[in-house]
Amino acid sequence: MTNIAHTWEMHCHSTFSDGTLSAQGVYDLALERQLEHLVLTDHDTAAGYRWLREHGTLSESLRLWPGAELSTVWMKRSVHIVGIGMDVMSPAWQAVEARYDQARESRFERLLFVLRREGLTLDESAIRVQADGATLGRPHIARYLVDTGQAKDSAQAFKRWLGNGKVGDVKQSWPELEQAVADIVANGGWAVLAHPHRYKLTWRKLEQLLDDFTAVGGQAVEVSCPAMPPAMRQRLVDHCCERDILIGGGSDFHQPEVPWARLGFYPQWPSLGPKLVDSLLNS
Ligand code: AMP
Ligand code: MN
Ligand code: MN
Ligand code: MN
Repeated sequence: MTNIAHTWEMHCHSTFSDGTLSAQGVYDLALERQLEHLVLTDHDTAAGYRWLREHGTLSESLRLWPGAELSTVWMKRSVHIVGIGMDVMSPAWQAVEARYDQARESRFERLLFVLRREGLTLDESAIRVQADGATLGRPHIARYLVDTGQAKDSAQAFKRWLGNGKVGDVKQSWPELEQAVADIVANGGWAVLAHPHRYKLTWRKLEQLLDDFTAVGGQAVEVSCPAMPPAMRQRLVDHCCERDILIGGGSDFHQPEVPWARLGFYPQWPSLGPKLVDSLLNS
């Protein structure tokens, strides 16, 4: 399906996690693209939202929403849940983020250990300096491996060491899916299952994930995603329509250079099914 320009972006990243534009840079690009609603969803943090509220230059024509993409495990697999509209200024939410900070720290240490054991040279402080306070993740290590000539590009670093099922696929630090959904909902947010096509699950297994996700309070599923196979999209639309699950989506923008994930561009909303954007506007 072709990606079209939307007025909403509900899934994107800044330098507060593994994106390459600053939070202000993402906001300015959204303005340039004439978006009307922007949800910044950095991995495990809403620091970009807080920064923009305090120091950013915001426009009347582009509403900024709080959000975050939480890392979780479900049946020993890594699954991402986007949260939108939480009270991210509250101590309760900031305690959630603090737990993630700790989890990322111990995971980073573990990653260094397992990757060094593979023979890679990793300068911990250089990676930290480069990440500049962002939630530290595999993409930062991938960039370092490219910069030091140990990998040709990020894709190769993921293929060899960091991707799903490889030595660097360290996920034991993340909370269970149920915990993340509870954290989002308890703080007034909407929980959205991110990019269902990226988990390499059979339809049967994906249905199980959807059932578990909604059983613990998850409300929406990303259905309009760039590069989602059309057959899966149709099945997801049917599934959501039958069960009154809200239909969401977004580009998962990380950097301007990637042509298939441009900010604000993703497939059109399906004609049928309840839409997350309507619920957000009425909330
Ligand atoms: P982490 O938050 O450390 O688990 O890293 C996950 C992030 O790595 C994802 O959000 C993507 O941005 C990036 N990523 C995952 N798989 C790949 C891949 N095969 N190639 C490049 N980047 C990837
Ligand atoms: Mn990412
Ligand atoms: Mn994700
Ligand atoms: Mn994402």
